Amino acid sequence: MLNLLRTILLVGLALWLARIAWRWLRPPPAPPVRQEEAAHTLSRCSRCGTLIPQEMTLWSQDKPFCSTTCRDG
Ligand SMILES: [Zn+2]
Repeated sequence: MLNLLRTILLVGLALWLARIAWRWLRPPPAPPVRQEEAAHTLSRCSRCGTLIPQEMTLWSQDKPFCSTTCRDG
């Protein structure tokens, strides 16, 4: 009877350790790609209506432009 209890305890301990090891070994989940957010960073050229990524937008008097041609033209 005592042997059975000890076996159950050992199995429980093994399972517990395995669960901890599993959490340790598993890589953290990758952050989801925020497509919606990326879409929000697009601006529309005030002159020709082209969608421009945020880093390529030329701002002039608070209006977005796709190129110097549109901005100055
Ligand atoms: Zn333009």
